[in-house]
Amino acid sequence: MTSGVIGSQSSLSDYHQEMHDDAMRLKDNMLLARGEGLTYQEIAELFDVSRQRVHQILTGYRSPATHASLHDPIRKAKRKRTVKQVVLAHYGNGKVACVKCGFSDIRALSIDHINGDGWKDRAKSNGNTFHRGGSGMYYYLRRNSYPEGYQTLCMNCQFIKRETRQEYRRY
Ligand SMILES: [Zn+2]
Repeated sequence: MTSGVIGSQSSLSDYHQEMHDDAMRLKDNMLLARGEGLTYQEIAELFDVSRQRVHQILTGYRSPATHASLHDPIRKAKRKRTVKQVVLAHYGNGKVACVKCGFSDIRALSIDHINGDGWKDRAKSNGNTFHRGGSGMYYYLRRNSYPEGYQTLCMNCQFIKRETRQEYRRY
C-alpha cells in the first residue's frame, strides 16, 4: 500500500476490519493487565502509549471475549509474564534487557538483588518467604512500589557475578 491510496472497496473494508481487530486486541490485552492490578501508568509504559490513551481505550466498548479470557488459565499464565515484563523493564532502565550486557530474551532474565547474597537471598512477603527469581518476586517488588537495590540481569551476568563474589570470599 503506497501513499495511503487503497485500490478497491473490498480492500478498504478489509483494512478497516484489520484496524478494528488490532484495536480490540490491544484493548483486551490492556484489560488483562488491568485485571492483574497494573496501574494506568504501568499499562501505558508496557504498551508504549500515553496514560490518557489507556484511559480512553479502557473506558470504551468492552469485548465480550474479555470476561471469559480473564479466567482462562492460559491467559492467566500470560498475565504473569506481563507483570514480569513490567518489573524487568523497571529494573532494566526502561528496557526488558540485562543492564550489564543488554541481552533481551525474557526467558533468561531475572531480578538481581544488587547487594544480596546470591541464591541465598530471599525476601519476606506477607509472612511468606519466597525464593528470589520466583514469580512471587515480581509481585512483591510491584506491590512495594519498586524498592531500590535491584537490577535486571541475564543468567550469564548473574553467574559471572556469583563466581566473582565467591572468588572474593576465598581471599
Ligand atoms: Zn547480561
